[in-house]
Amino acid sequence: MKELFFKTSYDADDRGHFGAYGGRYVPEMLMPALEELEKAYDDARRDPGFARDLTDLYHHFSGRPTPLYHAQNLSRQLGGAQIFIKNEGLNHTGAHKINHCLGQALLAQRMGKKRIIAETGAGQHGLATATVAARFGFECTVFMGEVDVARQRPNVFWMEQLGTEVRPVGFGSRTLKDAVNAALKDWIATVETTHYIIGSCLGPHPYPSMNRDFQAIVGAEVEDQIQDHGFPKPDYVIACVGGGSNSLGIFNAFLDDPEVHLIGVEAGGKGVEKLGDHAARFEGGRPGVVEGYKSFFLQDTDGQLTHTHSISAGLDYAGVGPQIVYLKDRGRLHLTYATDEQAIAAFRMLASTEGILPALESSHAVAEAIKLAPTLPQKKSIVVNLSGRGDKDIFIVAEAVKDSKWLDFLQSVIDREKQSDTK
Ligand SMILES: *Cc1c(COP(=O)(O)O)cnc(C)c1O
Repeated sequence: MKELFFKTSYDADDRGHFGAYGGRYVPEMLMPALEELEKAYDDARRDPGFARDLTDLYHHFSGRPTPLYHAQNLSRQLGGAQIFIKNEGLNHTGAHKINHCLGQALLAQRMGKKRIIAETGAGQHGLATATVAARFGFECTVFMGEVDVARQRPNVFWMEQLGTEVRPVGFGSRTLKDAVNAALKDWIATVETTHYIIGSCLGPHPYPSMNRDFQAIVGAEVEDQIQDHGFPKPDYVIACVGGGSNSLGIFNAFLDDPEVHLIGVEAGGKGVEKLGDHAARFEGGRPGVVEGYKSFFLQDTDGQLTHTHSISAGLDYAGVGPQIVYLKDRGRLHLTYATDEQAIAAFRMLASTEGILPALESSHAVAEAIKLAPTLPQKKSIVVNLSGRGDKDIFIVAEAVKDSKWLDFLQSVIDREKQSDTK
C-alpha cells in the first residue's frame, strides 16, 4: 500500500492554492494559529512516528481497513457493471469523519494543545470530534446554532454523554454559519491552548490538504482491495460531495491515473432549478470567498450564502472544498447530482438487495451507481464510497417512507413519559 501522505499532481501550491481556489482569507489575528498548524502538520507528515500512531488508531480504534464489498445482487439486478461498496460506514462512529478527526486530534496532542473546539450543523462532525476529544483527554466545546440544537437532539445528547460541552449559538440565523463565526471568535481568544477541528476538506490552508491526507487511506485501501476481486483498478469511482472529505479521500489514490473515471455527486434536493431547493454548488453556484477560503458557493447577489436544502444533513451546505473545484476545472472530476427522491430510492434498493443501510449522504453516490451501471458492460467495475451507515437517519427515512407505525411508536414514548410524570 501507498505511504500515508503522498502527493499528486493535483495538489495545492505551497500557499494552499488549488489553481484559483483555496488559500487563506482570515483575520490577521488568526494567521499565527494557521502558520503554527501548517508547520506542525508539515513536520508530522514527514515523521514516520506520526504515521505509525495514526495507522495504529485507524486499525485498533476505528476498525480499519473497512471492507470493499462486491454488491453482486445489486449488480445482477441492474444487469451492467460490477458495483463495489467501500463500506466506511463500518468505521467507529459510523462514517468516514473519524479519519480526519483522529488525524487532527493526534496533531493537536503533538502541538501540546489541551482543548478542542469545533462547529457543527447536523451534529455529525460534532459527534466525531467529541469522540476523539474523549479518547485523547481534551476539553471540548462544540458550537452549534440554537435552531440546530433543537432539531438534532440525538447528536447533542451523544456529544454531551461523551463529555463535550455543546454551546448553543443564539445570533444570526442560529444555524451552521453562525456556529462557524462563534468558533472562530473563540479560537482567536484561546489559540495558545486550543485546536480548531474543521470537519471537511475546506476552510483556510492547511485544512483542505491536511484533511484530504487524513482521508486518503480510503482510496489507498481500495487500490489494493479491488485487486483481490480480480480488477487491476476500478473503472469508475463515485462519491457524494458535501465539503469534499469522503470524496477526495477515495479519489486521491487515483488522481494520477486518467483511466479511472471519477464522479462526484452533489445534493440535488427538490430539484436544481431554484436556489434554496438544493445544495448543488455546480448548479447555480459561483466563485466567492467565505469562511476563510476561496471556492464555489451558492450565494445571493450580495455574496451572502443562500439557504440550501438536502434530505441529507451532511450534504446540506452552500460551499465546497477548493480541491473539488480545481479537479472539475482541470477536467479530472465529473460532477453530477441526485435528488432527495433518487437518494431515498437508492437507499431502499441497496437495503433490500444487499442488506446494507447507507447514510442518506452516501445514498446519493449509490443513486449515481444505479444510473450508471446498466449503461456499462459487466466486465467494468464501479466503486462507490459508502461514506456512512444509515442508522443515524432513522427519523428522516421513517418520515420519507411514510411509516405510520414509527409515528405511533414516537407517540407511545411521549405518552409513557407523560404518564410517569403524573405518577
Ligand atoms: C459529513 C458527511 C458527508 C459529507 O461530507 P464530505 O466532507 O463531503 O465527505 C458525507 N457522508 C457522511 C456519512 C457524512 O457524515
